[in-house]
Amino acid sequence: MLKLIKGADVYAPEYLGQKDVLIADGRIMAIETEINVAAIYKDCVVIKAEGMKLVPGFVDSLVHITGGGGEGGFHTRTPEMSLTDASLNGITTMVGVLGTDATTRSLPNLLAKSRALTYEGISCYCHTGSYQVPVTTITGSVQDDIILIPDFIGVGEIAIADHRSSNPSVSEIAKIASQARVGGMLSGKKGIVSIHMGDSTDYLSLLKAVVDETDIPITQFYPTHINRNRGLLDAAKSWLDDGGLIDLTTSTTEMDLANGEPRCSEALAELLEEGKNIDQITFSSDGHASLPTFDSEGNLSGLKVGSEASLFAEIRAAVLDYNVPLEMAIKVATSSPASVLGLHSKGRIKVSADADMVLLDEDLNIQTVLAKGQVLVKDGRAIVKGTFE
Ligand code: ZN
Repeated sequence: MLKLIKGADVYAPEYLGQKDVLIADGRIMAIETEINVAAIYKDCVVIKAEGMKLVPGFVDSLVHITGGGGEGGFHTRTPEMSLTDASLNGITTMVGVLGTDATTRSLPNLLAKSRALTYEGISCYCHTGSYQVPVTTITGSVQDDIILIPDFIGVGEIAIADHRSSNPSVSEIAKIASQARVGGMLSGKKGIVSIHMGDSTDYLSLLKAVVDETDIPITQFYPTHINRNRGLLDAAKSWLDDGGLIDLTTSTTEMDLANGEPRCSEALAELLEEGKNIDQITFSSDGHASLPTFDSEGNLSGLKVGSEASLFAEIRAAVLDYNVPLEMAIKVATSSPASVLGLHSKGRIKVSADADMVLLDEDLNIQTVLAKGQVLVKDGRAIVKGTFE
């Protein structure tokens, strides 16, 4: 079936002007100033979008789709996500990962949940591996998992600089990265290595050592939670200058912010003001993660759940509170993560790309969400729900 979005201001993410966008068979077929196909094809569904902004569907590169955490005991394992946790927040592509717990949570379960979300309407991928090294896999090797399992596009999140990590060595991280890189090369994927950054003041020194001591390019690594404290954000500036990628985590708690965690939107504005390249910077929600807080003796003192809603909330805040232009702000959750992850049909409004798009009203509220050409959200309400919602 054809769908025609009429008269929206299109951000591809770069601003294209007021355009009509024609969708056929789940893909973008044409982007023109005026398309009148509805007169010929009477079944064409027309979505009137004058005065609205059309942006690519958001790509969330780190989500605990099967839940995460459990740092306070079994009852603190966070729940699985549902389709509308993504769709209502404009997220049409996500990457599922395990978290701190790769004992009671498994890669087969992650893979099954990812396929369920893809069946229900969005596009979901996964990383093989785990927080701890040696990493868990399905086939016995990171390289084979990435080559043989279509859904697996990289490895991680592997924890470093964190008291919950396995304290991996330079050579352990180098070996995993080599396997991910070769696995990616042989299967036409990026084989990205997602790295969970903890609170230790080692910051990025382990990754810098791997890059210095091996031929693995810096762009193989994708460290996340870079805004978790001021020291790490500052340390990441030279990593950016060296050509490295960074991911900022939008989920947070008021306590973390009060304790000095830089807010994502504010951190983005700061990095852009300092002339950093926005193509190296992404946001992810860390949705359904546990957000534990620890007291000065390392004891768990509180636990919250990461929210997918935070992803667009921080983009919106970057625009409205920190004056980052919309076409720049949306890059961090559209074209940039799609490029980092090697998802070429995602994160852009262009002919032949997947028809994953979000319509925003003039106050930048999400009104309509299309994924693979299907309307999942209309007038801010989910019209398609997950199987058990
Ligand atoms: Zn993490």
